[in-house]
Parts: sequence; C-alpha cells; structure tokens
Amino acid sequence: MSTVLLTGANGFIAATILRKLLERGHTVVGTVRSESKATFLREQFKAAVDSDKLKFAVVDDITAPGAFDEVLRAYQFDAVLHTSSPFRYNITDIDEELLQPAIQGTTGILDSVNRVAPSVKRVVVTSSFASVVNRTKGTWPGKVYTEADWNPTTREEGLKDVGSGYYASKTLAEQAAWDFVKEKNPRFTLTTLCPPMVYGPPEQEVPSMVKLNVSNLDIYDIFNGASDPRYGVWVWIDVRDLAEAHVLAWCDAAIAANQRYIVSQGNFSPQMFVDYIWKHYPERAAAKGINKHSPGKYYSDEGIYGVDTSKSVKDLGMKYTPIEDMLRDTLKRFEDLEAEGK
Ligand code: NDP
Repeated sequence: MSTVLLTGANGFIAATILRKLLERGHTVVGTVRSESKATFLREQFKAAVDSDKLKFAVVDDITAPGAFDEVLRAYQFDAVLHTSSPFRYNITDIDEELLQPAIQGTTGILDSVNRVAPSVKRVVVTSSFASVVNRTKGTWPGKVYTEADWNPTTREEGLKDVGSGYYASKTLAEQAAWDFVKEKNPRFTLTTLCPPMVYGPPEQEVPSMVKLNVSNLDIYDIFNGASDPRYGVWVWIDVRDLAEAHVLAWCDAAIAANQRYIVSQGNFSPQMFVDYIWKHYPERAAAKGINKHSPGKYYSDEGIYGVDTSKSVKDLGMKYTPIEDMLRDTLKRFEDLEAEGK
C-alpha cells in the first residue's frame, strides 16, 4: 500500500479520487486551503480518519514558493496527485485568481517534490482538454484530437476574458509542468491527464445546490429549469472514470511515465441531458418548465470534432461509463441533495 498526497482534496474530482484511494487501502494526505474545508470529508471518511489512513494538511496559498514543502517533508509519499486549480467563473482578476494559482501551483509542487520529497516516484497533474482543444477552430467537423494537440492560446489571450483565462490557465500550467521535467530532469516521473467536461455524482460537500461545482451545474441548471443547455465543449468523462485514471496513472503504470493522456468517454451534447430528463422525469420536467429545445437533435448538421482516447485504453486499461449511467446516478444524487434541503 502507498502513501499519496492529494491536493485540493475537497474538490469535486478530488473527493471521488479520495474515496477510490481509501477503498484500495492507500494512506492519503489531502491538502485543503483551510481547516474548515476538511470538516465534511473527515465526517464522510471517519473510519479512515480514525485509523490514520486519512489526514489533512492546510496549504493556504499554493502560489507561495515552497508552499508544499512542509507537508511533503512530513510523510514518506509514494505519489502526488495534483488536482487543485481554480475552476470557476466569478473572477475579477484573471492573472491573480486564475493564471497564477494554476501555473505557479503546478510548478511549485513539482519544485517542492524535487527538492524535499525523494520518495515520490510519480506526480499526476489534473490538466484538461482545455490544454488540447483549439477554440479558434470551433466545432471543427472531422477533427480528431490526440495527445499531440495543444491549445495554441497565449497568456495575453488568456487575459481577455474569464473563459479564455481558464483555458489559458490549464494550457500554460501543463506546458510549465512539461518544461519543468525537461529542464530539471527530476527523480520522479510525470503523468498529465486531459479530461474534457467532467460530470457525475458529487461526493464533495454541497452546501447548497447553487454552490455545486461548475461542471455539474451544467446538468443541475437544466434539471432545475433554471437554464437552457450550455454548449461549448462536446466531449465528456464520468468523474468516477477520471478518478480511476488518476489511480491507474501511478499504480503499476510504468508505461504512463512522462506521458500525457486524453481521458474521455467521447462526444456528448447537452441536449442529451434535456432528453434524458424529459424521458425519466417527465412530471418534474413539465413542472419546472424545462425547454425541450430540439429533442433528439444533438449536434449541428456539419458535425463535431472528436477525441482519440485509444492511448488511455491501451496504456491504462481505461473503460468509460456511458452517459445514461452517469445521468442516472447524478440526477439521483441531485434529488437526494434536494431532499436534504440543499
Ligand atoms: P472544484 O472547484 O470542485 O475543485 C477545485 C479544487 O482546487 C478545490 O479544492 C479548490 O479549493 C482548489 N482551488 C481552486 N482555486 C485554488 C487556488 N487559487 N488555490 C488553491 N487551491 C485552489 O473543481 P474540479 O474538481 O472540477 O476541478 C479539479 C481539477 O480538474 C482542476 O484542476 C480543473 O481545472 C480540472 N478539470 C475539471 C473539469 C471539470 O469539468 N470539472 C474538466 C477538466 C479539468 P477551494 O475549495 O478552497 O476553492
């Protein structure tokens, strides 16, 4: 069994990774920005906390030089999974709130591991399809993205608006990670995962439905009759598959050393959410006044880009959950949260 550092442990994706790691008997130290952000997870995973399999460390500013030194020195880690990075749109200063935490957070943890944590063999960085896709090409019918593709965005373009800022933050952070490996030739190996839209049952703390993580709000806002589908990204992955990818990327995966992976079930359209809700929750859909939009018509006539995920299947043995299963489990969790008064 291994000891793993999981950054941003209270986030949507990290909470599912955390469960998987504990289920497999690993010891996990999760970083959070303040002690109160660990309260919910301490309750959820009480048995692991009581048996010392789960601990938390506060790292309040991941952009500070050496921010992770203390926690990395305190344990003998085998692997580091770096998920923490801003994914939200209520941003006033793009550079300070998006670019710096993404880029400096990533290079900072790599630098700390290299300097103070010689036991770490693998660092897995949660990058994004945002660092792969070329947004200027739009739906790019016929294009199949692979790991060789890079978003050509620049820091300057990222400063234009918050949406561009997010794409730039992920692209520049992943590029900086690969530059670090090239320049410093560290003892550890790196794996980056590039998931597109991540959906699935939220396991993190949800204080109220409006405070759901950004990607799941795409589904909940439709389910709640609050908005029409938001179109933009046409590929997706179930959060449980992405969590599995994080585990597979360092457990027994010598093949994943210094590799980049697109992880995705494939294409989807938000219209699928609408159709699924109308099919399985017709009374709710009518009561909430959910706009049927264009039932069954998922993509524009000229088509849509795709992704080649064969590398993740071949190297990591990834299997991808169908969208109907994700929607079944996610909507059920939404209903449970609503029943709890969230
Ligand atoms: P969440 O917002 O649920 O989690 C983000 C985590 O990062 C939280 O722990 C958050 O801490 C932490 N974080 C955010 N900003 C900062 C900051 N400035 N300094 C330190 N920590 C910070 O998002 P997800 O779980 O969805 O995202 C996790 C990772 O996955 C991110 O790297 C994101 O870019 C990536 N990703 C997500 C996708 C998705 O569709 N969800 C798609 C592709 C990639 P706090 O709670 O204190 O803010």
